[in-house]
Amino acid sequence: MDQKTIRQQIRELLSFSPMSAREISQEVHVSEKEVYEHLIHINRSLAATHKKLDIEPAACLHCGYVFRDRRRYSPPSHCPKCKQTHIKRPLYLIR
Ligand SMILES: [Zn+2]
Repeated sequence: MDQKTIRQQIRELLSFSPMSAREISQEVHVSEKEVYEHLIHINRSLAATHKKLDIEPAACLHCGYVFRDRRRYSPPSHCPKCKQTHIKRPLYLIR
């Protein structure tokens, strides 16, 4: 599979509306794990432009804790505050 084409597709999708990694993976037919790899590269290539890859942060559905300081794109597995695993996944958007 052509990496450039997939990244271009992801960039177009995220320029249009915020999406979770799961939604992206379904749209471009790669695994979620690969989506995170692509996001890292997309963010790096956007650094040269006036755009950036924004993250609407993950949040705990149990206590409402928001993962504001998280720098990784992959979702956290559990909440540091209440230890629950019901996490609202982060959304990504290019703006
Ligand atoms: Zn919590």
